[in-house]
Amino acid sequence: MSLDELPVRDDLRGKKPYGAPQINVSVQLNVNENTHPVPAHVAEDITQAIREALYSINRYPDREFTQLRQSLADYVNYGDALNGSHRLAYGTGATTDNLWAANGSNEVLQQILQAFGGPGRSVLGFPPTYSMYPLLAEGTGTRWLTAERGPGFSITPESAVAAIRAQKPDIVFFCAPNNPTGTPVNLDVIAAAYDATDGIVVVDEAYHEFMPDSKPRATTLLSGRPRLLVSRTMSKAFAFAGARVGYLIADPAAVDALRLVRLPYHLSALTQAAATAALAHSADMLAMVDDIRAQRDRLVVELTALGYDAYESQTNFVLFGGVDNPQATFQALIERDIIIRDVGIPHTLRVTAGTEAETTAFLVALSEIGR
Ligand code: PMP
Repeated sequence: MSLDELPVRDDLRGKKPYGAPQINVSVQLNVNENTHPVPAHVAEDITQAIREALYSINRYPDREFTQLRQSLADYVNYGDALNGSHRLAYGTGATTDNLWAANGSNEVLQQILQAFGGPGRSVLGFPPTYSMYPLLAEGTGTRWLTAERGPGFSITPESAVAAIRAQKPDIVFFCAPNNPTGTPVNLDVIAAAYDATDGIVVVDEAYHEFMPDSKPRATTLLSGRPRLLVSRTMSKAFAFAGARVGYLIADPAAVDALRLVRLPYHLSALTQAAATAALAHSADMLAMVDDIRAQRDRLVVELTALGYDAYESQTNFVLFGGVDNPQATFQALIERDIIIRDVGIPHTLRVTAGTEAETTAFLVALSEIGR
């Protein structure tokens, strides 16, 4: 039987699921993970925490994941102190009441759409942007609206305000910095968008740890803006993608709204234990961020030298244009045991910054394949 023969919702007919290919090759630079493994001593502590949690696994977990929220609040507030070399501009003074978490920031974003979107409501985004936004909108019956970007994929306060005034969305999604382009979003854009709407403004900061340390994050705008929601993840810089933990920093009222739609006990006891143990080692978990930034900048330089149009990036990946046939290059790399991502932008591919060896393997293979 095919899907079309089932009485599936009309608005889901003909839709395609999220489909980043999962192919088992040696060099995986396709989904913007931190490709450095978790340090062994941290893995040991996490294992111990999971082992302890297993002894009470007959019980439902803490529905409010209070300890994890406290660890996340500490991480958000004291990020600067956690790693001497990182001056992360968190500056929020967040308490546990400002923190929420779910199974990946994808679930956080879904809960936001469930609470503030839904049938008869809309969400505005700025393509090219994270490919899950329209899918999350579809899944929650929220209309997906789009606005243009300017040169270099930029968004200005004027263009954001004009799009909001014209389309009157219930929710605005900014991806800052943006996937798949790596482009930052200046805080004046977010502040102007907030003032131009009565709706919810979401800033997805999945990649913020890769931004310049001195650049202020959207969390510094939270005070006095109860409709501003900042979402983050442990999947990228924090090297914890497989554990599925994303989180939100927002006014306690917005957190209360998400409580209305979350499933009871949505964060398993094992997830809570693992994430709390990992957050106790934040400095070690973030130790490779500088290396990854160096490989990212190296990618921009070397891709440009190879004749590609590489875009400046404040994330852990680089988008590059000037590719004759992206699918052919993608396949040729697979044959060389390397996977990157075709994000569907003509003549363009996206590559994650890996370890130095992985990044070298990719650049050597690409120069052999040619444009
Ligand atoms: N936001 C952006 C911009 C992303 O690129 C991703 C992952 N690719 C996510 C959110 C979701 O990540 P996770 O669910 O692993 O937290």
